[in-house]
Amino acid sequence: AKRVPPLQSFLLRFSRTASHLARHKYDVIVVGGGHAGTEAAAAAARVGAETLLVTQKIHTIGALSCNPSLGGVGKGHLVKEVDALDGLCGRAGDWAGIHFSILNRRKGPAVWGPRAQLDRELYRQFIQSELLSTPRLTVLEGSVEELLLTEPDPEEPGHHRVTGIRLANGSQPVSASSVVLTTGTFLSGSLFMGQTTSPGGRIGDAPSSAGLSHTLRERLGLRVGRLRTGTPPRIVKDSVDFSLASLHAPDKQPTPFSFLNTHTRCKPEEQLPCYLTHTTPGVEKVVRESLHLNCHIQQDTKGPRYCPSIESRVLRFPGRRHQVWLEPEGLTSDLLYPQGLSMTMPPDVQLCLIREIPPLHRAEIHTPGYGVQYDFVCPTQLSPALQVKSTQGLFLAGQINGTTGYEEAAAQGLWAGVNAGRWALSMPPVALSRTESYIGVLIDDLVSRGVTEPYRMFTSRAEFRTSLRPDNADLRLTLKGFEEVGCVSSLRYQEAVRVRDSLQDALAALQSLVLPTSSWKKILGDVGISETKNSILNGMDLLQYNNVSFEMLASAFPERFSPHLEFSQRLEIEAIYRPHCDLQRKEMERIQREESLSLPPDMDYLSLPVSLSQEVREILDRVRPSTVSLSTKELNLVFSQSNQQHQGRHLHH
Ligand code: FAD
Repeated sequence: AKRVPPLQSFLLRFSRTASHLARHKYDVIVVGGGHAGTEAAAAAARVGAETLLVTQKIHTIGALSCNPSLGGVGKGHLVKEVDALDGLCGRAGDWAGIHFSILNRRKGPAVWGPRAQLDRELYRQFIQSELLSTPRLTVLEGSVEELLLTEPDPEEPGHHRVTGIRLANGSQPVSASSVVLTTGTFLSGSLFMGQTTSPGGRIGDAPSSAGLSHTLRERLGLRVGRLRTGTPPRIVKDSVDFSLASLHAPDKQPTPFSFLNTHTRCKPEEQLPCYLTHTTPGVEKVVRESLHLNCHIQQDTKGPRYCPSIESRVLRFPGRRHQVWLEPEGLTSDLLYPQGLSMTMPPDVQLCLIREIPPLHRAEIHTPGYGVQYDFVCPTQLSPALQVKSTQGLFLAGQINGTTGYEEAAAQGLWAGVNAGRWALSMPPVALSRTESYIGVLIDDLVSRGVTEPYRMFTSRAEFRTSLRPDNADLRLTLKGFEEVGCVSSLRYQEAVRVRDSLQDALAALQSLVLPTSSWKKILGDVGISETKNSILNGMDLLQYNNVSFEMLASAFPERFSPHLEFSQRLEIEAIYRPHCDLQRKEMERIQREESLSLPPDMDYLSLPVSLSQEVREILDRVRPSTVSLSTKELNLVFSQSNQQHQGRHLHH
């Protein structure tokens, strides 16, 4: 069990004065201690870079701004992959989880969604404690006012290099070879409740200073858009009538997120329940009658389609009952989080609304819900290493890139931190392919397609999802993370090698056990094996039958299989998907070949001596794809847009 040091010791150890820092040059400075920033800072330090994390308030490092939960369908894959690359959030989830469940169990294991409800305090303490014990990492409390940049190269107008940051308190600048910006919802952030608007990144926190937005927009000329999100009111637990809601029990046996953990801190019997209830027609009535009092919802800034406010849900789907989950905020917390009730009307209207929901008919609000609107940087201006293409050494990660969610932020943070560290240490950038990870899918979608609304991960976004499973993230990423990237500890690497070797031995043993179906029937009994004349099956074929488990094979052939019992579930999953993965291998290899053909950043597309239409040339000139794979996708996009816009007109290339 990990002992988390008290917050006080964290503060004492980490608060440094800005004057001390000014004398020092860091390899990497990470701005923002949210989900992206903490992973970025830890990853940069792991690759060997001397790193400084600057954040507005040290005690909010690792804060869960909205729902106290981690993982879910698609998002759980990201948590497993961040963990496989030695990131923090998976282990933090195992430490802070108070209700674990695997979502989507009715579907195949490739799309299962590991999820946990969290204790906010435990999560925050774990992340802070991890940063405390990360070598080469210093944390400073402060607000970054400005990025320091070199003047653009006259040969390459518009191209800068970042050299450090300046803090808002007017202290000396702090130098660094690279900077990772992870300012979340804070960039020109405005908070909305009813008809009131105030500047802020999150309730109780000021927005990022205007200087930072100015640098990005004016000095670097980056295209910036505006998005919105919101959070529900927090409800006093004792005021809820749970007898009117349906109980949602956790899994009997919690499944840890981390490949390093065999169990979670919370014992199975100590887990807390969640509850499900629904909206009523009264909720819709309150929303409709209060629209004129709700300026957030009246604006046309895009909000999260997949985590919408109750106002958006009611207006888009009138007459429907909408799910509301009543979820605990922590082991000892007196509050409940009503998932599905994000709202921005005035506080008195919020109270009327929640009381239209049966279990909440006498509920009290502890903190009202609110909305936030913020600037994001259009992510097509980034390379696959998450570096701003026009500014050397500047990396962006998290909500600033137009995503929503802790997991999406953590995944980008880790990868931006790795690349910022490598840049500072003069190592080449590394990329993750969409054929090998959900992190690769996320980054590729962002940098090649951009976003028009807050981007959230889904399993449907991954073409190769039968290969990119939560169960095998360690085999896909830990070995690469150690051998090629340098962000994985040797301890974790050795464990992944042990797992890989054991699985290979077990798979070879399964494949080499070949028997006629009649013999299998005699050994295993009636397990639904269909018999055709002279048919033979090996152990892997057998595991594709629903009624055959690895444990059955191990009890029939103990000498061969019982040494591998610890991997029963992984072997069964591998057996189900292996034939399909083998079929997909050619397509994956084709995409990997295209991804490895990089295009020079200064390519002159406008006068390229090949047959390309002017329109395609202009798009390529604007997007400046980093690989042939991106340019192929970009061209497809051009075709589809062009077909919509100019019917009958064809592009030639
Ligand atoms: P954050 O976690 O926001 O962290 C940003 C950090 O940067 C903060 O610590 C801040 O103090 C620091 N910072 C900012 N500017 C500076 C500066 N100039 N100098 C120093 N430090 C700075 N996600 C969902 O998936 N579903 C939801 O429904 C949802 N609702 C949300 C509602 C609200 C009101 C908010 C605020 C967020 C919501 N989120 C939701 C988003 C979720 O919190 C984010 O996706 C996630 O936290 C993003 O992580 P991040 O690291 O990019 O930014």
